[in-house]
Formats: sequence, structure tokens, C-alpha cells
Amino acid sequence: SPGDIIEIVIKCVNFAAVKHKDQRRLDPESSPYINHPIGVAYILTNEAKITDVDVIQAALLHDTVEDTNATFEEIENEFGPKIRSIVEEVTDDKSLPKQERKLLQIKHAPTSSYEAKLVKLADKLYNLRDLEKATPKRWTPYRVQEYFAWSKKVVDGLRGTNQAMEDSLDELFKKRNVS
Ligand code: NDP
Ligand code: ZN
Repeated sequence: SPGDIIEIVIKCVNFAAVKHKDQRRLDPESSPYINHPIGVAYILTNEAKITDVDVIQAALLHDTVEDTNATFEEIENEFGPKIRSIVEEVTDDKSLPKQERKLLQIKHAPTSSYEAKLVKLADKLYNLRDLEKATPKRWTPYRVQEYFAWSKKVVDGLRGTNQAMEDSLDELFKKRNVS
């Protein structure tokens, strides 16, 4: 029922807000980190027109294991195995060197599930829009351009998933001259 859906979505928002409470984004204003997972979920409902609750839940939770003390076991206990599985697919292994993690995202994009591809597309779109708005403190223009070029390689492995998000991403890549 609608009541059940609202309850489960707010449970995810609350879980993410508690886990990310001390974190800030890299933008010059150091925005609250929680703006990002909420914004990724909003891109999915508002622009991609996704109403699959599993995808929205995974979007809200997508950076909790990667960036906080949350564990996959905790996600499974609170939200079930399906949500755990999508979150696992979009979580980088932080024990690996950064360069390796970046290459693995490119490698794994094409074989990830439809649900994970949607979350990844919305995540890239949100982050590239952030970079378009303002350069993070201590980032050179070169580093921003590198991030766009790497993102394009990941997105190329996610194509055929959602036209609205892919069109918006292509517009950003065009503006940045990444091909
Ligand atoms: P980071 O991974 O350190 O930062 C990018 C990530 O930060 C995003 O993917 C996003 O992840 C999160 N984020 C938070 N705030 C913002 C924001 N305002 N805009 C965009 N993203 C934000 O950097 P890189 O992706 O560049 O990865 C590091 C790589 O860069 C390594 O390969 C390293 O070797 C290289 N490097 C290059 C330097 C250079 O000057 N060229 C200097 C240092 C490293 P999320 O969605 O998880 O929040
Ligand atoms: Zn993210």
C-alpha cells in the first residue's frame, strides 16, 4: 500500500541521514553529504521517471557502506537481500588502490543489473552536475576534466538503460568536449 512505501522510503532516508551525519560534499560550500543520496533518488523519480521502490531505496543507501560504518549485513537486516544486492553492486571496494577502483567501475558497468545501472547513471549525473557548478577545493581544472573523461567510460557501459539520464549525461559530455 502507499503507506508501506512511504514508511520504507523514509526508513531509508533516515538511515542514510544518520550514517552520513558528519560528512560533507567536496563543493566549496561543503554541502551536507545527505543532499547527494537524496538528490540521486530525486533524479530517478523526477527525471528518469523510475517508480521501482527497490531502485529508490538503493539510491538513498548507495554510499552508506562505501563512505560510513554501515555494513552490507546491516543493510540486509534492515532492508532485505534485494536492496543489499543492489547496494553491493554500486559500492567500490575501498581496500583497493584508487586507480584500480576506477578501472573496476568501467569493467563492471556493462554486466551490472538493470537496477544498479539506473543508480550508477543517476550517481554520475549528480556528481558531474556538481562539478559543472563548482570546482571542489584543491581540485585543478585538469582533475575535473579527468573525472569527466573517466565518467564517460563508465557511462558508456551503462547505455540502453534510461534515455532521459543518458541524454542529460551526453549533453554534459558534449559541453566538456569528452568523446
Ligand atoms: P575522489 O574519488 O576523491 O572524488 C570524487 C568523488 O567524490 C565523486 O565520485 C563523488 O563520489 C564524491 N564527491 C563529493 N563531493 C563532490 C562534488 N562536489 N563533485 C563531484 N564529486 C563529489 O576523486 P577522483 O574521482 O578524482 O579519484 C581520485 C583519482 O584522481 C585517482 O585515480 C587519483 O590518482 C587521481 N588524482 C588526481 C589528481 C589530479 O590532480 N589530477 C589529484 C589526486 C588524485 P560519491 O558519489 O561516492 O559521493
Ligand atoms: Zn554517490
